Amino acid sequence: MKKVLITGGAGFIGSHVVDRLLLLGYTVTNIDNFQNFYDRKIKESNISEALMHPNYTFIEKDINEISGIETEIKNVDVIIHLAARAGVRPSILDPLAYYHTNVNGTIQMLEFARRNNIKKFINASSSSVYGVNNNTPWKENDLDLLPISPYAASKIAAEKICYTYNQLYDINMVVLRFFTVYGPRQRPDLAIHKFVKAIEAGSSIEIYGDGGTSRDYTYIDDIVDGICSALNYEKSKFEIFNLGNSATISLSALISQIEVNLNREAIKIFKDEQPGDVSITNADINKSAELLSYAPRISIQKGISEFVTWYKNQQLNS
Ligand code: NAD
Repeated sequence: MKKVLITGGAGFIGSHVVDRLLLLGYTVTNIDNFQNFYDRKIKESNISEALMHPNYTFIEKDINEISGIETEIKNVDVIIHLAARAGVRPSILDPLAYYHTNVNGTIQMLEFARRNNIKKFINASSSSVYGVNNNTPWKENDLDLLPISPYAASKIAAEKICYTYNQLYDINMVVLRFFTVYGPRQRPDLAIHKFVKAIEAGSSIEIYGDGGTSRDYTYIDDIVDGICSALNYEKSKFEIFNLGNSATISLSALISQIEVNLNREAIKIFKDEQPGDVSITNADINKSAELLSYAPRISIQKGISEFVTWYKNQQLNS
């Protein structure tokens, strides 16, 4: 069974990928530096079960320093590169930090792959690369990528450098553009988590704009399915895939859905739209369906109910 090196595997998406890979019998090494965008205790809890698994190794390290631990990591078949500074709005405040991790860090991982003759690389990208392209649903071959945040631009740069390494060094490359991922362990800065926490506590929520912006929310299990399909993808040497749900929901409808699940009304404060935020995201998933057999199964209604159940259990156990 393959040996996988994952970066960012203590985070929201990465920790779910690790759990699934261990279940499937893979050997997994995870490099994560517990970057302080949110509480490290959350990340420690994300990996607590994996740490007990005999096929799992955790290395607390910055990907920009991977060359220093090169000899500790041997016989890797595939890299799943998820480590990143995530979040659109904070990237406007600290663009250099975003570039250091998302671009330099990606090059560090590609160099690691080149030096160690690792022939498969899966790179986490984002729907944000499409930016203010109003021609939805977005297709992978759309050329008008119009990023409006340093985060989005850093993700485009990382995609491009992946292409370059594919061409130069014959590393098989799969770039996955995730569309707003949610579910248990979702990052605390993201909308669904923030809203559930505030509404449950009886606090107010801030709505940027009039509630009419819409997102293609994708449940974590569907994303993990897509990443696992990408692990086995061999039909071409470089490919970009959208991993979305392919359905959109407006911010207002999302909040109503959360209110129903919590049986509480939100206290809403309306604010101006935020720089960096786009008005809509929507994935065309025909290519992923055809080549990865990707078929998202969890509707937003079911997914929110799952998230609320997880959130309440967390509260009870904390
Ligand atoms: P996350 O912040 O929960 O996970 C990222 C992990 O990377 C964290 O555990 C962090 O400690 C680690 N990390 C950050 N910088 C590092 C560094 N220099 N060295 C080592 N580890 C480092 O975020 P997530 O939501 O799980 O996102 C995972 C990936 O998916 C990211 O590449 C992100 O850009 C991408 N993505 C996420 C979403 C989403 O909705 N969550 C959407 C599109 C793309």
